[in-house]
Amino acid sequence: MVNLLNNLVVLVTISAVGVFAELKNKTDYPNGLSGPFNPGLTENTEAPIQWFNPWGAGWIPQGCKDRFIAKGYNASDAQVFNIKYSDCSRAWTFCRHKDAQLSIEDMADSFGRMSVHMRSLVRHPIALPSSGGCSAEAYTDIGDIVMYGNCKAITVWIHETGHQLDARLKPSERFSGTTPWLEALERDSCVPDSYANTNTVEDFAQVVVVAQFNTLLGYKPKEAFPGCLDHRHGLLELTYRYDYLEYIGRCSNRPDDSKVVSTETTQRERRRMMKRARAQEDNDPSVVGPCSFP
Ligand SMILES: [Zn+2]
Repeated sequence: MVNLLNNLVVLVTISAVGVFAELKNKTDYPNGLSGPFNPGLTENTEAPIQWFNPWGAGWIPQGCKDRFIAKGYNASDAQVFNIKYSDCSRAWTFCRHKDAQLSIEDMADSFGRMSVHMRSLVRHPIALPSSGGCSAEAYTDIGDIVMYGNCKAITVWIHETGHQLDARLKPSERFSGTTPWLEALERDSCVPDSYANTNTVEDFAQVVVVAQFNTLLGYKPKEAFPGCLDHRHGLLELTYRYDYLEYIGRCSNRPDDSKVVSTETTQRERRRMMKRARAQEDNDPSVVGPCSFP
């Protein structure tokens, strides 16, 4: 019954978002989160990279192959590599298109700066090229995150991982669709920035950036409207600070890696994968984005 109620609330919220374009008419950080949040995060975090291990040519995780083909790229143009951080016994498998603006080092560094618990929500970090700026997507049923273009900013990585925290592999039970979250939203008077006004899911991910910063540094960058998002921020830290946001601990409950497959793709397989991806991206609420930031 509780689940049913939550789902009803989600439906009502989504339709409400469709009618009223914005959640709030005040933004706490009017120029976006990147400027106020990235310098402090860069200063106070470190990626505990232990080793890199590139895969040989010809093989790729299925999750990466799906994304490459769906976006019109060849799987054989992927650079696949394992990165081991000192705070987790299991490496992560990353995939990078050879023309992506993010280097392997950029990906390992930006991802590694998040707390190990946040990293543990992600299956494969993926980087693809873009002709301008940075946008990103989260596949919240499987745990993959995809960066398009120059997405080195830690706030972007926290935001996309924030979508994974929201769903925790069960998009139908998103925290941002629960009654406590929606009541907190009702009581607050602002959104973090204009992008958070897109909908409740994007708003949640931007509040995760605020909460991650506050957990690590013990304060928030100067707000335009002090306290205006304290109900959501407080609820988020109360619920997730100890298990996810603290910069201590070990990895646990990570999604399993996807199976290893050949990079070779027949035309028939490519058509089938692109068709399936188009159907999914148009209708599936587990695909969040593309997120792009002011
Ligand atoms: Zn987003």
